[in-house]
Amino acid sequence: MTAKRPPWDLATLQRIAQTHPTPFHLYDERGIRENARRLRAAFAWSPGFREYFAVKATPNPYILEILQQEGCGVDCSSLAELVLVDRVGFRGDAIMFTSNETPAEEYAKAKALGALINVDDLSHVEYLRTKVGLPTSLCFRYNPGPLREGNAIIGKPEEAKYGLTRPQLVEAYRLSRSLGVRQFGLHTMVASNELNPEFFVETARMLFQLIVEIAEELDIRMDFVNLGGGIGIPYRPEQQPVDLAQVGEGVRQAYVDIIERAGLHPLRICMENGRVMTGPYGYLITRAIHRKDIYKQYVGVDACMANLMRPGMYGAYHHITVLGKEDQPNDHTYDVVGSLCENNDKFAIDRQLPKIEPGDLLAIHDTGAHGHAMGFQYNGKLRSAELLWREDGTVRQIRRAETLDDLFATLDFSGLKGA
Ligand SMILES: *Cc1c(COP(=O)(O)O)cnc(C)c1O
Repeated sequence: MTAKRPPWDLATLQRIAQTHPTPFHLYDERGIRENARRLRAAFAWSPGFREYFAVKATPNPYILEILQQEGCGVDCSSLAELVLVDRVGFRGDAIMFTSNETPAEEYAKAKALGALINVDDLSHVEYLRTKVGLPTSLCFRYNPGPLREGNAIIGKPEEAKYGLTRPQLVEAYRLSRSLGVRQFGLHTMVASNELNPEFFVETARMLFQLIVEIAEELDIRMDFVNLGGGIGIPYRPEQQPVDLAQVGEGVRQAYVDIIERAGLHPLRICMENGRVMTGPYGYLITRAIHRKDIYKQYVGVDACMANLMRPGMYGAYHHITVLGKEDQPNDHTYDVVGSLCENNDKFAIDRQLPKIEPGDLLAIHDTGAHGHAMGFQYNGKLRSAELLWREDGTVRQIRRAETLDDLFATLDFSGLKGA
């Protein structure tokens, strides 16, 4: 089993916690950069390859800037994300807009930024045309239905709300071409947190095949294909990371077999990963504040489900390291819990850990994607700060913690009798 350990020791985290009270998410810049370079290298054979980072995973301008410097674009799914990437300086085809049930104002913003618009339904061609005006370039999201199995987070494709069926897809390209669209893309996203590299190669094969069929049926040449995101990460210590080089090489072979053979080279390849880009390089640092023995043994920490929803929402495993006790035996069984009045506010259930005392610092692993981003304020819980551990070993606060003033900012006390 690989020892899963954060890149910081107890003394370092204690020092950081002196100026930045727990809980906070801490991101490792070097880890993010090195991984982005691995993905680029895996697709170096494909001119124009681009990863469009799924902004929803970690919507923080500093993280987006790091990925921008590593050559990534951004995949947005909402108005707020479009506004955010605009402010970071992403423009034009460095932005993909993949949304569903999209309001007209969001399409308008995407079009104004020159983003590549990825359409989720046939009816949206007309919606876009009448509300916003069609852009010259359009991408469509394919839902393969029973052709692919999907997986636990995204579910079975035929039960997923996303995308167009095969016949609708053909109609969408035909219609949008007749309305003046000149550049086309094809997209799918059928899995999330998938650890089998072959899954992504199979997805590429399916899309390449479809591109050949559409070229034959409609004489439409696709400009780019977006293989989606969904590359998984080893949340559990016994799991292995996806070998990105293997994914790149498998997709290359499929490209040669299908796209080149059909004379459709060059075709630009994109992905829109979130989790694998930042997930393993973020940690939720929290302090044990209570211990409680009833029918089970509990460790209460100062973070709660509002800081990291995945365990409560999906029953997801997040590894926990007790700082300074890395080499002690895991001879205690704890539920590690937060303070929300919900019994699923548990970061770990029946976890084997070293003996924990109030005051101990805990690192909850793999919170760099879909961690802080999924936070909420139920129970009046405040979202924590986000910190960046830079390559030079300095720490920068890249988002402050929320305050009670933030929480109450939308309330109106002025009409109360007692006010
Ligand atoms: C969430 C999402 C992604 C990113 O998924 P990961 O599992 O984080 O890689 C990519 N594309 C779309 C359309 C999404 O909704």
